Amino acid sequence: MRNAIQEVERRIEAAASRAGRRREEITLLAVTKTFPASAIREAYELGLRDFGENYVQEFEAKRPELEDLTGARFHLIGHLQSNKARRATELFHAVQTVDSAKLARRLSEAACRVLEVMLEVRLSGESAKSGARPEDLPELIEAVSGCPNLRLTGLMTMPPWSDAPEASRPYFRRLRELGLRCGLPGLSMGMSHDLEVAIEEGATHVRVGTALFGSRKRP
Ligand SMILES: *Cc1c(COP(=O)(O)O)cnc(C)c1O
Repeated sequence: MRNAIQEVERRIEAAASRAGRRREEITLLAVTKTFPASAIREAYELGLRDFGENYVQEFEAKRPELEDLTGARFHLIGHLQSNKARRATELFHAVQTVDSAKLARRLSEAACRVLEVMLEVRLSGESAKSGARPEDLPELIEAVSGCPNLRLTGLMTMPPWSDAPEASRPYFRRLRELGLRCGLPGLSMGMSHDLEVAIEEGATHVRVGTALFGSRKRP
C-alpha cells in the first residue's frame, strides 16, 4: 500500500504542478468501501487522514475499530436516504451527497455538532439516480443556509463511467462553473482513473479507491 499511496501522491503533485496549483489545495480522500477497517488503519499509519465510505451500514460496522485514529476524518460519498440521516451524523464528519432540502433538514436536526456538507450534482441526465439538478441548486443552497448545524463547503459530482479520463472533463468543468456561480469553493470530483483531469479542472477533493487499495470484488 505504501507504493500505491506514493504513486497516487506523485500523480496528484504532477497534475497540480501542470495546472499551476498547490498540492495543499487538494485533499486526497481514500475510498475504502468493501475494504475492512484494517485497510483504513494501514492507510492511516501511512499518513492518510481523509476517508470516503459509501454506505452507512457498512461503515457502522467498521467504525468501532477506528475510534483511536486521532485526526482521521470520515466522509460519506454514497447516496444517503433521509431515514439514515441521524446515524450518518453520528458516524461521519462530512456528507458529500446532500441532494434535497428534506435530507439537509434531517441532517441538521440530527447533528449535535456542525456537519460539513457538499451538494451532489447530477450532470448527466440518463444514468445517474442521485444528485440535485443544476437548476435546483439555488433553492437547495437557500435551504441548506437555513440549517444551523450544516456548513456548506462545495459541490460533488460523479460523471458517467468511461475508461477514457478525458470523457470526464466536460462534467468537471461544468461543476467548476456551477461552483463559481454559487460561490462555493469546494469541488469533489475525480477518481482513480481521471484524477488528473479533475485537478486540472479545479478539484479540491479527489476520491480514490482502486489506485490505493486495488480492485474491489463485485458485490
Ligand atoms: C467507489 C467510488 C469512488 C472511487 O472510485 P475508484 O475508481 O475506485 O477510485 C469515488 N467516488 C465515489 C462516489 C465512489 O462510489
